[in-house]
Amino acid sequence: MTASITSARPRHLLDFQGWSRERLTALLDNADTMNQVLDRPVRKVPALQGLTVCTAFFENSTRTRVSFELAARRMSADVVSFAAGASSLSKGESLRDTVEVLTAYKVDAYVVRHHAAGAAHLVARYSGKPVVNAGDGRRAHPTQALLDAYTVRQEFGTLEGLTVAIVGDVRHSRVARSNAELLPKLGARVVLCGPATLLPEGLAHLPGVTLTTDPREAVRGAHAVMALRLQQERMDAGYLASLQEYADTYQVNESLMREAESGAIALHPGPMNRDVEISSDVADGPRSRIVRQVENGQAVRMSVLYHLLVGRE
Ligand code: ASP
Repeated sequence: MTASITSARPRHLLDFQGWSRERLTALLDNADTMNQVLDRPVRKVPALQGLTVCTAFFENSTRTRVSFELAARRMSADVVSFAAGASSLSKGESLRDTVEVLTAYKVDAYVVRHHAAGAAHLVARYSGKPVVNAGDGRRAHPTQALLDAYTVRQEFGTLEGLTVAIVGDVRHSRVARSNAELLPKLGARVVLCGPATLLPEGLAHLPGVTLTTDPREAVRGAHAVMALRLQQERMDAGYLASLQEYADTYQVNESLMREAESGAIALHPGPMNRDVEISSDVADGPRSRIVRQVENGQAVRMSVLYHLLVGRE
């Protein structure tokens, strides 16, 4: 798969630093192959036989955790899942000691979700094993961005020259940050949109990224419109006057979608607050690719694990 790629193969997927466009493209191409495996009557290949993948989730998850565990199993890995709430962390054990214990059981790779930015980097350092960041605080969620990019590419055949509008709670969203890092690398333009209190100006310096507080301006010319969840668990106070006021202006609904390109698709990383950041008619309507995103998550995560674990010394 990577024979003709000239850039060095990164050991981890913590964010997109060190991931070249050609390597990212190969990863998405390989997700096509994984989707073919998932369409077969027997959805299993031996690629990771003999390897053990640990999913270490220090924060809640449905889609990401289930799809990573299935992805690893579909490729014949053994999977051990570590849930912070049920572990000795609740007795005060440190992240470092926890990782040392897991590594002593001969875990070959980690998939890590944590509420603190940088936690996946620490697991990489403590374990010495390949690590996939499955979401660290509000910093990065690279596999979500990859499955978003893959879903848009599947729809339009390319990302080159496309515009993706991301509307909602950008401030607290690792999904927005990872998409803002990834999509321009693959040739797409990103417009980030939300109320001023939820739109950090610092993101405007990223190449290929623009910011606006006006949702109609954001979606004009967009080929994909992604709604972001209001991350109330990461908000202290004072970001919004009221949920209703927020929904009146920023909800991704039919009226907003009409301002986008005629074939524009609607995305949401989930979990959705229906009829807050996205209307049910858009979420369940013909433009929605939200279920497709979930489906693609498994193939993309298979491709990521394959890329990090197969063919290495
Ligand atoms: N599931 C995504 C995440 O973990 C988005 C969200 O929670 O709103 O970041």
